[in-house]
Amino acid sequence: MLSTDSLLADFPILDQTIQGQRLVYLDNAATTQKPMAVLLASRHYYEAINSNIHRGTHRLARAATDAFEKARETVAAHLNAASSKEVIFTSGTTGGINLAADILALSGRIGPGDQVLVSTLEHHSNIVPWQMLCQRTGASLKVIPCQDDGALDQHGFNEMLDGPVKILALTWISNAFGTVNPVVEMTRSAREAGAIVLIDAAQAIAHLPVDVQVLGADFVAFSGHKIYAPTGIGVLWGRSSLLNELPPWQGGGEMIREVTFQHTTYNELPFKYEAGTPNIEGAIALAAAIDYVNGIGIDVIRVHENKLIHSASDALSSIKGLRLYGPEDRSGSLSLTIDGLHHYDIGTLLDNMGVAVRTGHHCCQPLMARFGTTGTVRASFALYNTLRDVESFVAAIEKSIMMLR
Ligand code: PLP
Repeated sequence: MLSTDSLLADFPILDQTIQGQRLVYLDNAATTQKPMAVLLASRHYYEAINSNIHRGTHRLARAATDAFEKARETVAAHLNAASSKEVIFTSGTTGGINLAADILALSGRIGPGDQVLVSTLEHHSNIVPWQMLCQRTGASLKVIPCQDDGALDQHGFNEMLDGPVKILALTWISNAFGTVNPVVEMTRSAREAGAIVLIDAAQAIAHLPVDVQVLGADFVAFSGHKIYAPTGIGVLWGRSSLLNELPPWQGGGEMIREVTFQHTTYNELPFKYEAGTPNIEGAIALAAAIDYVNGIGIDVIRVHENKLIHSASDALSSIKGLRLYGPEDRSGSLSLTIDGLHHYDIGTLLDNMGVAVRTGHHCCQPLMARFGTTGTVRASFALYNTLRDVESFVAAIEKSIMMLR
C-alpha cells in the first residue's frame, strides 16, 4: 500500500495553504506536481553540466550528451521499446501528434477517399492535427461514437473498419471522463484492417504501464509534465520500420548527415526527427521522473489512485442533482455537473476552499457537445493524493451546492 505521508514530503509545492486552507491539488490531468528528485535533476543539469549536446569535444558537452542519451535509454526501457532509436524527444503530446500527422501527410501514403478515425473522447490535440492532415491530403475524418456511459461504441468502431481506414488516432485514457479505452484490442483490429495506429498516452503514462510491444501501435505520444516531469518535454515513440520509411519533418541542425547547397542527406533515427537544440534539461528531468515513478511502482500507484477515485464517486453519487460522467472503472479523472449550477461557479468556490480542480471543456469540445454540456467540474488524481483530499473535495462540493442554491 502506498504511504502518501512520506511521499508528500517529496513534493514541496503541496505544503502550502490557500486562503488559510490546506491546498488540495486535484488538477493532475492538466499537469502534475514535481518531486524533489526531478527538481534536483533539473538543477544539477544547469549547475554542473549545462552545454549543448552531440557535437562538442569538451567535457561538459560530453557529460550533457551522455545524460541526454541515458535519458532516452530510460524512456525506452520504461516503454519496453525494441530500441532507444524509436524514442523521439518532442515538446509534448501535442508536438508528438503533430509530428506524426505531418510526416504521414508528407509521405504520400494518404489521399482522397482515405479515412482517418478519431474518437468522440479525443482531446483537441488528437483531433485538429488530423483535420489538418485531411485538409492537406483530401482524406476524410470519421468519428468513433461514444455511448451514454462514456465508453466508445465498439460495435460502431468495428463497422467503421470496413471502410478505407488509413489511420486510427485514439486516446488511451480520456482526460475529460477518465474512460479507459481497450486500446490493445482496438489497435489490433485497426492494424489488421491495414491502418496505422497512434495512441495518445498523455493521461495513461502516469496511471498505467505503457508497454509499446504489448500495445502493438505504430506511434505513442505523451508529455513529461503529466508524469511529474517539467513542461516542454515529451516523447513520440514510433515503430522504427515505419519511421525509417517516412520522410523527415523539420529541417535544421542534428537531423542531417551531409549538407551541400545542392543536396542534403538525413541522419538516422531518432536524430532525423530532432532538428535543432532539444530540451536537454527536460529530457534528463523526465528520466528522473520515470525513475521516481518506477521506484514506487506504477501498479502500486494505480491501486492507490483507483481507491481514491472510487471513494470519491461513491460519496458523490448520493448527492441529489449531481451527474457523474464516464464509466465506473474510470482512471485518473472524475467529471461531474450539478443541475442548475455552472461548473465555473463551483470551481471558483472550491478554489476559495483550497481545492484546485479544473472546470470547462477540458479541450474536448466535441465530447462536451455530445453530452449536451459546455463543461464539467473535473477532479483528477495523482500518487500524492489522499483519502483526506477526497473528503475535502466532497465536502467542498456539498458546501458549494448549499452556497449557490
Ligand atoms: N491528449 C490528452 C488526452 C491530454 O490530456 C492532453 C493534455 O491535457 C493532451 C493530449 C495535450 O498534452 P500537451 O498539452 O502536454 O501537449
